[in-house]
Amino acid sequence: MNAPQRRLALTNALTVDVEDYFQVSALAPLIERTSWDQRECRVERNVERLLDMFGRQNARATFFTLGWVAERYPQLVRRIVAAGHELASHGYGHLRASDQSREEFLQDVRRAKGLLEDLGGQRVLGYRAPSFSIGYGNPWAFDVLLESGYRYSSSVYPVQHDHYGMPDAPRFPYQPRPGLTEIPVTTARVFGRNLPAGGGGYFRLAPYGLSRWAIRRVNRVDQRPAIFYFHPWEIDPGQPRVPGTSLKTRFRHYVNLDKTEPRLAQLLRDFHWGRVDEVFAPHLA
Ligand SMILES: [Zn+2]
Repeated sequence: MNAPQRRLALTNALTVDVEDYFQVSALAPLIERTSWDQRECRVERNVERLLDMFGRQNARATFFTLGWVAERYPQLVRRIVAAGHELASHGYGHLRASDQSREEFLQDVRRAKGLLEDLGGQRVLGYRAPSFSIGYGNPWAFDVLLESGYRYSSSVYPVQHDHYGMPDAPRFPYQPRPGLTEIPVTTARVFGRNLPAGGGGYFRLAPYGLSRWAIRRVNRVDQRPAIFYFHPWEIDPGQPRVPGTSLKTRFRHYVNLDKTEPRLAQLLRDFHWGRVDEVFAPHLA
């Protein structure tokens, strides 16, 4: 690597939404929540694989962990913390913020924070809403996060998408309330539109070069760190298939599951990766 490239090499933020394949919002209509306890859990071994991979590549990350998962796998929570990663909250029960009342949302985010702090032994600063479900209809969610002691949220994806997205939300960290920073998932601005550049289905379904190009563009043109996310089930081609899914959901959920792990390894080699609370520290002051 030559000198000018090194100067441009920002540390980007790597994030994992720690949930299992049967908790995904797109499959929620087909899976009763009451059946979760009877399902084969694969999240623990998938997160272990990620921890190994991150360790080998010397990458740090933020794990937005479901309270439901933390309660069942306390050792996993401790291993995340012991490996030097940031433990953050994905709520307790993977309900969309937009499907809950203010009071229900408060209970959910408080319960998750308390559990994670007890298990991890560290203060939990960050929260990510399931399916990026803080939007135009529920700005009170930011007040609830602040009341519950969170310092930042990464719950907005400023793109056009049928299940989520606030296409005209700010692309970079902002304070929706004094004391609370929203760190939107990364987009690349191209021809006046925001293209998803921060992972999710796009990372799996589109060619890898597109993600690399978009993150580089944000680092070089916007001169900002990117924030990238994915799920443990996305590196698990052996996960049980949920019957009754639509063609679109099948495509989004199952295509390229076998390619995600090598792709992720490439992403770890192509960029420097760190924890949200460190990469975005200047915005959390
Ligand atoms: Zn989720």
